[in-house]
Parts: sequence; C-alpha cells; structure tokens
Amino acid sequence: MLSRDIDITASAADALAPGDGDAWRNLAGLWNRVEKPLLDALFTPFPPIRSGAKLALALRAAGGLRFARFGALPVRRLAEEEFRGEAGLLFAANALHADLSPEAAGSGMFGWILAMLGQGVGYPVPAGGAGELTGAMARRLTAAGGRVLCDREVTQVIVRAGRAVGVRTADGTEYHAARAVLADVPATALYGDLVSWDELPSRLRDDMRRFQWDSATFKVDWALSKPVPWTSAEARAAGTLHIADDMDDLTWFAADLAMGQVPAKPFLIMGQMTTADASRSPSGTESLWAYTHIPQQVRGDAGGDGITGRWDEREVEAMVARIEARIEALAPGFRAAIKGRVALSPVTLDRDNQGLRQGALNGGTAMLHQQLIFRPTPGLGRSETPIAGLYLASASAHPGGGVHGACGSNAARAALSAQTRVGRLLAAPARKVARRVVLGD
Ligand SMILES: Cc1cc2nc3c(=O)[nH]c(=O)nc-3n(C[C@H](O)[C@H](O)[C@H](O)COP(=O)(O)OP(=O)(O)OC[C@H]3O[C@@H](n4cnc5c(N)ncnc54)[C@H](O)[C@@H]3O)c2cc1C
Repeated sequence: MLSRDIDITASAADALAPGDGDAWRNLAGLWNRVEKPLLDALFTPFPPIRSGAKLALALRAAGGLRFARFGALPVRRLAEEEFRGEAGLLFAANALHADLSPEAAGSGMFGWILAMLGQGVGYPVPAGGAGELTGAMARRLTAAGGRVLCDREVTQVIVRAGRAVGVRTADGTEYHAARAVLADVPATALYGDLVSWDELPSRLRDDMRRFQWDSATFKVDWALSKPVPWTSAEARAAGTLHIADDMDDLTWFAADLAMGQVPAKPFLIMGQMTTADASRSPSGTESLWAYTHIPQQVRGDAGGDGITGRWDEREVEAMVARIEARIEALAPGFRAAIKGRVALSPVTLDRDNQGLRQGALNGGTAMLHQQLIFRPTPGLGRSETPIAGLYLASASAHPGGGVHGACGSNAARAALSAQTRVGRLLAAPARKVARRVVLGD
C-alpha cells in the first residue's frame, strides 16, 4: 500500500516485515535530497548542462558513486538489498509500467522514481476524464491565437533545401510552417516515412533499423454497478492498483514477453477512476480499467488459449476472460458487477492512434540502451533532427513515454531558442557538427 502519507506507507511496510518501514523512510529521504535536480535534469533538454551541475552537487550529497550504483540496480536486487519483506514490490510493479523486467539494469531507478512521485503527489488524474487535459491545452492554445485542426492525417513533412517548411495531409492540402514543424509521431513514422530517406543521413537509417519498440498493450474498460469487491480493504481505497502475486510472478510475466508468449498470468495495472475522481460515474458505481502488456510479435500463448496475435473476437474474449479471472480471484463477485465493457486489443489501439504501435505506450523501449543519449537513436538525446526546423516531439524522444509533456516541451523550447539571434547563428554549424560527429555523415 502506497499512501501519500509516509507514515501509512511505512507502517504497511513494517507490517510485512518489521524494520522495512525505516528502510522505506531511508529511500524516501534519498528522494528528498535529489528530487528537484533529478527531475529537472530528466525533464529538460539533454544533455542537462545547468540542471546537470545542480544534480551533480545533489548526488555528491546523496552518496556519489553509491547513488550511481543504486541507479543501475535491477529492481529485484534493489528490493533484496533494502527490504526483508515484500515492500520492494511497490518499486517492481512501477518499473513494469514500462517494458522493464525485474532483472533489467536501471529498472530499480525507474520504479523508485515512479513510486516516490506516488508517495509525494499520488497518481493524479484530470477531474472529469483524461480528455480534460487535452481540452485544457487546446483552450490555452486557442486563447493565445492558435488553431487546432483534427482528423487530418499528415502524410509528409515538406522539406526544401534541407529545411522543414510545412506538412502535407492525406487529402493533398499543404500547411506552411513559418518557423518549425514539431512532429508528435513515433521516430519510425518520422524517419523514412514522413521524411524520405533521401533527405536523411544514411547512418540514421541503420540506427533506425535497430530501433526497438516497447511491448504492445491490451486494455479493458468496465462500467461496474458497484465498487470492485476486493477482499483487501487497502485495495478498495486505492486509485491505482497493481495485480501480481510476487516478484517471481513479475519475472515470469516479463519472461513470457521476452519469449514472444502472451503471458499466462497477466500483470495488471488498474485504475479505479470513480474512487480517484467521483465525477467519473454515478455514485455507488465504479468506472474501472486495467491494462497489461503483450509481446509485439506473438509467437505463442503461455496461457493455453491458442492466442496468435490476430486479435479476432475469439482471441479478444479469451484475453478478457484471463484478465477478469485474475481480478475475480482477489475480488469474488467482480464479474457479477459488470454492466458493460470495452476491450482494446493491440490491433484496436493501433487503429485508433497510429502513434501507438500495437498500443506500445512508451514510444520505444524504456530499456537503458534506448534512453538518454541513446533515445531514439544514439545522438545527443535532443529533439532536433538532421532537418533544420524539424523537431521530434513525441515519446520517442527523451525522456520517453508518460503524460509529463516533457518531450513536446523540450521540442518547443528547442524550436524557440533556434529563433533567437544566437540560436540562428549557432543552428547551422551545430547541426553540421552533430551530423558529422553523431551520424558520421
Ligand atoms: C492504454 C494506455 C495507458 C496509459 N496510461 C498512462 C498513465 O496512466 N500515465 C502516464 O503517464 N502515461 C500513460 N500512458 C502513456 C502515455 O499516454 C503516452 O506515453 C503519451 O500519450 C505519449 O505521448 P505522445 O505525444 O508521444 O503521443 P500521443 O499522446 O499518442 O499523441 C500523438 C497524437 O498524434 C496523432 N498522430 C499520429 N500520427 C499522426 C499523423 N501522421 N497525422 C496526424 N496525427 C497523427 C495521434 O492520433 C495522437 O493523437 C498510457 C498509454 C496507453 C496506451
């Protein structure tokens, strides 16, 4: 149980194994020492020169090399080192929001950051529904004189003399860009598709061949006639839930994914939306969702239902039944409360948003080899592209997936600073050096 009240979290950890409450407090203390510079360094353009210097100072105070080792730990090892009981599962389940296994290098840091954010601010949701977030941003843009045009598929970024000058949509309309194009599409859609390989350095093509997607996603939304009847009182009160038996269960799940198998026991990330925000459904009912990961390429079904990855009606139903059985085992009577459901298979998620490759929610793997200066390909981890005036603004850019807005914000800042006098003077030589040094062009 992760509560925003650290006393509650610590006593829940103590109840699992005496002494683990203090271990939790130690890790929360470490977070307090590095939180601001660490988040600044992660959520500003890379390499984080100003924020990096502050982070270096904070890290020295937080243990220097020992903190660096902590950052590299797989989450299973982190849990073993810090806890006697199972409190480390809070980090592990958070790490598995992304396509990280409990044994992956850096998964400890990923889980620790998410858990500590949860400890500090909870897992906030927009009141009234996720669409309110988009709505708020659109209203702000409109108020500043901007325009949002929807339902137009961009099929090409128009490049003239090495500069992005606009976009073309599927119906042939051209939109001129006076200053910059910020592409909120996966790197795979930008390079070689919206921008032809002829316009791009050959090294980038080879780098993109190595680009790794994160896992696909299978999600179910339910309308329930009553809250989920969890046997656990803590689960009944939580906005966000993780469903797994223990660390080994998470490892089996990750191993199934690595082997291309639809997991036999899907690890579930769940949201009890009415519990988090009473406006989501009528009083006394619950608006619930759960998602799990699926391999990008299904080679078999560890669950024995013969799911092939076609995701036809039979396969979708089999997967829904597997997920519902897992919930029912912990909340007897859950199935009887279902008034309606919508299942979103990898195929549906892909169709509804072409930026989601089979529902991959991170814009590319979150593993170490595709993070920071390796994101989306080895480079500077920045949103600038080899094309002047074109910026990668999606989760494929540093720092990756999630509703934090940093990828778009970094791209916007880069585009704005290129408009300043100094920016204009430096942009062309900087791009030339980057193309030579990073892309060997
Ligand atoms: C099921 C699910 C649950 C998630 N849960 C959480 C969560 O709880 N917390 C969290 O922080 N993150 C969560 N995420 C991850 C988060 O939603 C993504 O990482 C984030 O939205 C990625 O932002 P983006 O701007 O790169 O892409 P998107 O948000 O996908 O935006 C890209 C937009 O561009 C449009 N588009 C793409 N190509 C074109 C084109 N050629 N022409 C015109 N338009 C185009 C798409 O339709 C889309 O509207 C979840 C993701 C999924 C799929």
